[in-house]
Amino acid sequence: MSQDSREELFRQIPAVDQLLLRTKVQSWIAKTSHPFVVSEIQRLLESMRDSIRSGGGIPPFGADTSSLESELERRLLARLRPALGSVINATGVILHTNLGRAPLSPAARESLSALSGRYTNLEYDLAGGQRSYRDKLLDSLLAELLGCGSAAVVNNNAAAVFLILRSLAFGREVVVSRGELIEIGGSFRIPEIMAESGAVLREVGTTNKTRVEDYRSAIGPNTGLLLRVHPSNYRVEGFTERPGLRELLELARSANVPLVEDIGSGCLVDLASFGIAGEPIAQESLAAGVDLVCFSGDKLLGGPQAGIIAGKRALVGQIRRHPLMRVCRVEKLIYGALEATLASYRTGRAFDDIPVLRMLSASHQELRRRAARFCTKLNARVPAGTHGILVEGQSVVGGGSCPGANLPTTLIAVESERCSPDEIASRLRAQDPPVIVRIEEDQTLVDLRTVFPSQESVLLEALCKSLA
Ligand SMILES: *Cc1c(COP(=O)(O)O)cnc(C)c1O
Repeated sequence: MSQDSREELFRQIPAVDQLLLRTKVQSWIAKTSHPFVVSEIQRLLESMRDSIRSGGGIPPFGADTSSLESELERRLLARLRPALGSVINATGVILHTNLGRAPLSPAARESLSALSGRYTNLEYDLAGGQRSYRDKLLDSLLAELLGCGSAAVVNNNAAAVFLILRSLAFGREVVVSRGELIEIGGSFRIPEIMAESGAVLREVGTTNKTRVEDYRSAIGPNTGLLLRVHPSNYRVEGFTERPGLRELLELARSANVPLVEDIGSGCLVDLASFGIAGEPIAQESLAAGVDLVCFSGDKLLGGPQAGIIAGKRALVGQIRRHPLMRVCRVEKLIYGALEATLASYRTGRAFDDIPVLRMLSASHQELRRRAARFCTKLNARVPAGTHGILVEGQSVVGGGSCPGANLPTTLIAVESERCSPDEIASRLRAQDPPVIVRIEEDQTLVDLRTVFPSQESVLLEALCKSLA
């Protein structure tokens, strides 16, 4: 492009003041602020200059003030959109860590709205009219539900593991099986967290086989505790051996060292009949005599992000008194949402109230019926060359839990002659609210297991718009 024609293009770019004269721009200034709108106009005009400088000419949105006004509006709206928003999870991954893991129960959501804009008795003893401690709030409810002496709540299970190691085994050895030295997504690695905590890792056994004898021969005067970790997100199959909890407990008792179990998911109910086998249940470990268990609040428990440390009163007390407890503490909203979630377990309504458990326990028959109904509606609306078909498949627990789960579902595969699966998925993400789907073997798949029934009509609209 010649210098002259480039100059000609630069001349087409209006001045900031010209755009400021437009009524819509004025109304944006009234709604937001003068500097905010001006800086966005400058950014917009600069992007046009950049495009011309690099030889791309006037960008496709054009250079006349009315087109620029529309482009400016689009950009202002995008800038004002909150960074965090709700999305429709059509992936069928129930505890999708990237999508915020567990959606909360109606009661937990009510608690958030009731507590968030008001003062609370977070650290206040209403009977005595004096200072109290926040970790007392859920102590008795957790102890009752889990059948243990005491329980403390921290920010997440990673913090729980760290705090246990730090406060009970600083400078001492922690015996762990080589088969349990796991990494959970987001680079939480047992050996690394152990090193950071100041405890000394004492690995025993091998990747596939560890016997109780391996633990026994590792125990010595400097042993702080025995740690058993639920290998949440993978399975060792074939020629394997892992000591039973009871054997390990007998050893811990006779050596007089605590046994701590990181059970990961925080499963409080038996999920075997729903295709999830082998998940340790917190109450069962505690009833068997494990000194401490820790688990997440936002995995199978179905509550807010939290880590729960439960077990013997003396040990929980020792952890509570550690200075780093202050670093890991959670805020009032988490206590509220967690209490409401736990209350559903207490009243036996967990499978009715808690979305994660509802989704897990949804029957294949019910999902097939929903998918068939949805697919019929979709096909009545989408243009020629586009359609949904039913495909049998599996949902996924996710969140680093239950890799071997069997959760049969019926998926809707969305096909278009004009759009690739990646394009469809990208258009769906651009909807409001964004829709996230799964792409597998070059198919765009919608799994209604993780879609709330009340979201189905919005999902249908989003699909119709994306396929149009
Ligand atoms: C998920 C998990 C963690 C980490 O829990 P967060 O709540 O995500 O911090 C630790 N240990 C095990 C075994 C887990 O499954």
